Amino acid sequence: MNGQVPEFSALRQQMVRQQIAGRGIVDQRVLEAMGRVPRESFVPEHLVSEAYEDYPLPIGCGQTISQPYVVALMAQLLALKGRERVLDIGTGSGYAAAVLASIALEVFSIERVPELAELALGNLQRAGFSQVRMRCGDGTLGWPEAAPFDGICVAAGAPAVPESLKQQLSVGGRLVIPVGSEQGAQRLVCITRQSDADFERQDFGDVRFVPLVGEHGWS
Ligand code: SAH
Repeated sequence: MNGQVPEFSALRQQMVRQQIAGRGIVDQRVLEAMGRVPRESFVPEHLVSEAYEDYPLPIGCGQTISQPYVVALMAQLLALKGRERVLDIGTGSGYAAAVLASIALEVFSIERVPELAELALGNLQRAGFSQVRMRCGDGTLGWPEAAPFDGICVAAGAPAVPESLKQQLSVGGRLVIPVGSEQGAQRLVCITRQSDADFERQDFGDVRFVPLVGEHGWS
């Protein structure tokens, strides 16, 4: 037994079937991770009954834990095989960091708001993901000492793709980031570093994220 409540486990499997696999997520590693990470440990206590619902939930400080499908889609776009070093920007509740840590070898995560960084640290420890390396600060600068990364996942909307993050990708690495010239409406973009100087950009449609606030984000 791993100490998980059976009811939550059943709701989690149902979420994976209906919201994740049911909407076209096919990456087996992502499906397994979403089926394993206890999302109820990452939502505020008064909202645990909604932990597996198909929408974002408030986590305090005006921020949200992303909709499960969006976390799965971003994880799938990173195309992780298990040996990667990944940077997660916008830790929030810590949920996406936990999903990524279930797949990748190493996860580094940056949160701008100190109260949320503390919340995430507690959530990650309680859920058994204390291997995630966390820092409180401006994620638009990346984590230069830990770079390069095989994957970078940004959970807040940027006005443009930060050059600093592109430069912290390994060759073959992918950066998944919501980008839009208006706050609150973005396109989900995946940037793949093809060589030292070449980056390929793919568009995955409309998304809505809270703003990425920082030196290479919104002011
Ligand atoms: N991945 C989170 C989603 C959190 S919402 C989860 O699974 O719960 C996005 C988060 O990005 C918010 O917590 C917000 O405070 C944070 N954020 C915004 N700008 C940031 C920046 N420049 N650096 C780091 N975090 C930032």
